[in-house]
Amino acid sequence: MRHSELVRRIESVPAFAHPRPELEQVVTPAEAAADLLQTAVRLDGLEGMAVTDLGCGTGRLAIGAALLGASPVCGVERDEDALRLARGAAEVAGVTVEFSAGDVADWDRPADVVVMNPPFGAQRQHADRPFWDVSLRLARRSVYGFALSDSRTFIARRAVARGARIVETHPVPWSLGRIFPHHTRARVAIPVDLWVIATGTKP
Ligand code: SAH
Repeated sequence: MRHSELVRRIESVPAFAHPRPELEQVVTPAEAAADLLQTAVRLDGLEGMAVTDLGCGTGRLAIGAALLGASPVCGVERDEDALRLARGAAEVAGVTVEFSAGDVADWDRPADVVVMNPPFGAQRQHADRPFWDVSLRLARRSVYGFALSDSRTFIARRAVARGARIVETHPVPWSLGRIFPHHTRARVAIPVDLWVIATGTKP
C-alpha cells in the first residue's frame, strides 16, 4: 500500500473523544503511525505476522497493521471508551482485530511483532515501564514503539538486559495540537524516537 493511502486510512481511525491525561491518551499522528508500520513492513514484512498493539487506544496501529496483511492482530487497552471507538473503526476499515480490555502489565500472549505508542511517562512517572518490559518479553521477532527522546538510556538498558538488539532509532519529532486542558500552547513540538528492537534472530 502506498504511504499516502496508508496515512489516509489511518487518519480515518478517530482520535480519543475525551482524552484522559492520567492515561496519557495521545493519538498517534497518522504520518507517524504509517512510518512505524512501513518500517515494520521493510524489516519484518507484516503479511501473515501475529501482531499485538499494546495500549491500542482507538486502534490506529492495530488497524494499520491489519490493513498491511498482519494476522492475527490483537489490541490491548484499559479504557473501554477507546475500545468502543477502535472496534467501530476496525469494522469501517473492513479488518479483523481482536480488541481486549485489560492492563498491559497482565498481558501474556506472545506475538511475532509488538507495535506500540505507550504512555511516555510524562504524567505518571514510569507509566511506560510495563510496556517496554512486556513488549520485550512477548515479541518473538521485534518491537516497534515510540518514546520520548529523553528515555533513550532507559530503553536501551531495558533492551540489552533482555538480550535484545537495537536495530534502529530514528528521531521523529511530533507536532501536537492542544490535547489536555493543562496544555497552554496551541501546538507543541515533542522530541520522539521510533525504536526498532529485535528480540529474536531477525531482522
Ligand atoms: N496506541 C494508540 C494510543 C496511544 S496513547 C494510538 O496509537 O493512537 C496510550 C494508550 O495506552 C492510551 O489509550 C491509554 O489508555 C493506554 N494505557 C495506558 N496505560 C495502560 C495500561 N497500563 N494498560 C493498558 N492500556 C494502557
